[in-house]
Amino acid sequence: MNIHEHQAKAVLAEFGAAVPKGYPAFTVDEAVEAAKKLGGPVFVVKSQIHAGGRGKGRFEGLGPDAKGGVRVLKSVDDVKASAQEMLGRVLVTEQTGPKGKQVNRLYVEEGAAIAKEFYLSLLVDRETSRVSVVASTEGGMSIEEVAHNTPEKIATFSIDPVTGVRGFHGLKLSAALGLSGDLAKQAGKLLGQLYAAFVAKDMSLLEINPLIVTADDQLRVLDAKVSFDDNALFRHPDLKALRDETEEDPKEIEASKYDLSYIALDGEIGCMVNGAGLAMATMDIIKLYGAEPANFLDVGGGADEAKVTAAFKIIIADPNVKGILVNIFGGIARCDILAQGVVNAVKQVGLKVPLVVRLEGTNAELGKKIINESGLNVIAANDLSDGAEKIVKAVRGAA
Ligand code: GDP
Ligand code: MN
Repeated sequence: MNIHEHQAKAVLAEFGAAVPKGYPAFTVDEAVEAAKKLGGPVFVVKSQIHAGGRGKGRFEGLGPDAKGGVRVLKSVDDVKASAQEMLGRVLVTEQTGPKGKQVNRLYVEEGAAIAKEFYLSLLVDRETSRVSVVASTEGGMSIEEVAHNTPEKIATFSIDPVTGVRGFHGLKLSAALGLSGDLAKQAGKLLGQLYAAFVAKDMSLLEINPLIVTADDQLRVLDAKVSFDDNALFRHPDLKALRDETEEDPKEIEASKYDLSYIALDGEIGCMVNGAGLAMATMDIIKLYGAEPANFLDVGGGADEAKVTAAFKIIIADPNVKGILVNIFGGIARCDILAQGVVNAVKQVGLKVPLVVRLEGTNAELGKKIINESGLNVIAANDLSDGAEKIVKAVRGAA
């Protein structure tokens, strides 16, 4: 789960990290009020969307010369004018894709005088099974670009979960950022705070870009991106409240209500599969036959009829879907239950695209019987590659 910058900063502040003062604003009035409370002389108005690159981003309908999604302003009137311009408008950045994202909330912050910009992130490193720290003197730009052009400017080290952050980690970070004296001390302290937040809140990513040194030698978290491990959300009810569903794919929200592992993709073949491995193999083989999957979906081993019905409805509702491949290898999952779910969903919402079904394993015969007797227009497949070939053919034939 991702959250907004202002929420991420509030979480980090709980752990003592130094963040600029600011207030979220959903309306122009709230933005003006926030600016008045801050008092100036410099304000920063920041678009809150779940995507980066806002500073260089462009608003739809404002032209290339208009200011971007992060604006440094000098008066309450300027804050008001910018809030009027930004709220409700679509912001296109390198990370949103060409469709952009509508800005529904702003964050109004006190402006900082920036002396230096750094990059700092913490993430779960699967290779070392530890939290890794990535730091660079090249802040404020895309870390992917830095990694590509000047990899020597990126320092990485990991933290032993048994000891947590120790003095030498702070020294490593300071060395990587070229900090000494009091700033080095601040860096060590900040690293401890960030690591504590990361572990306590089950984050999977914490990215600060930029981390700045102010003109009066203070380290400040100027931007913050936080992702949480979805599998740990059950033990953080406070974090669940930070979820902003307007930032998520409605199909994925619906799927999460039924505890389905569903990821929306751009292709035309909807897939309903049991087992993550088989789901990935199904996507691969669809590609092999020249088409693209519309989704990843693992309905899981213990899927009941309601869950399967919901899953199939989500697939049918996707306007990009030109054909559906149901690929079930029943082990724990029973083919008859999956078949009944498919039939239920089609009866409720109809089926306007070709459907190929491959059933194998537990209660496969019963499953096939349910489908055959349902009157549905189903193309039966013998195995995985036969199924993929048939659905791609059916879709191509219809085009
Ligand atoms: P992003 O573009 O989505 O990553 O948004 P950021 O929060 O990183 O802001 C983009 C850029 O705006 C930063 O890299 C800074 O250069 C600039 N910026 C943000 N806040 C301030 C501020 O308080 N003062 C000044 N002078 N610049 C700022
Ligand atoms: Mn940034």
